[in-house]
Amino acid sequence: MIKENLKEVEANICAACERAGRDRSEVTLIAVSKTKPIEDLMQAYDAGIRVFGENKVQELVGKMDQMPKDIHWHMIGHLQKNKVKYIVGRVDLIHGVDNEELAQEINKRAEKAGVVQDILIEVNIASEDTKFGVEPDKVKDFYVNIQKLPYVNVRGLMCIAPNVDLPEKNRQHFVNLHKIYVDIMDYMGHNNRVDVMSMGMTGDYQVAIEEGATMVRVGTGIFGTRN
Ligand SMILES: *Cc1c(COP(=O)(O)O)cnc(C)c1O
Repeated sequence: MIKENLKEVEANICAACERAGRDRSEVTLIAVSKTKPIEDLMQAYDAGIRVFGENKVQELVGKMDQMPKDIHWHMIGHLQKNKVKYIVGRVDLIHGVDNEELAQEINKRAEKAGVVQDILIEVNIASEDTKFGVEPDKVKDFYVNIQKLPYVNVRGLMCIAPNVDLPEKNRQHFVNLHKIYVDIMDYMGHNNRVDVMSMGMTGDYQVAIEEGATMVRVGTGIFGTRN
């Protein structure tokens, strides 16, 4: 089932890229395996998946230890400061950075580990009360502050769009995230340090790709519904 699902997701990604005049290589598929057992992850691995996303530190680290070593792991969930030390230097990318204390803790732990940690700023793109993330009008200032941290490399932005019945309803949010992204690239002089927009989940990744996503995070569409 997972293999078939992956084929379908892959076909959808290709179709969205084609509609947008983009190359398939511009979009990374992150297989979001939270709550799923190792057997399921291995099925995706055997089908060629090498990028996995998890949203809880303990689960992420546990799976990391059991899975093959050529996997790129992404921490996509809300990260608490006291858990930073378990993942810095072990994950490719931390997606959900939305406050300065967290960024400073990552910087501190990365220095200790002798690495520069790639991160994304989480943007509360629809200004929902229930969501984490920096408010859209505060992102630029936040970026300017934390990109000064020497052991943190801010690669770009991520957002979790609202849960909607029709993906079209989220298009404007993706357009808005793209605007903030371009604004930051302008500020940086387009030197390619900022190159990631992580947006789009099972319900809306095709629209997200049409609006410029470079990473999509797909869980249910690959592994089926979660319990
Ligand atoms: C769970 C999760 C996803 C995947 O959600 P699906 O709708 O199952 O594709 C993507 N991003 C984040 C941050 C998540 O927590």
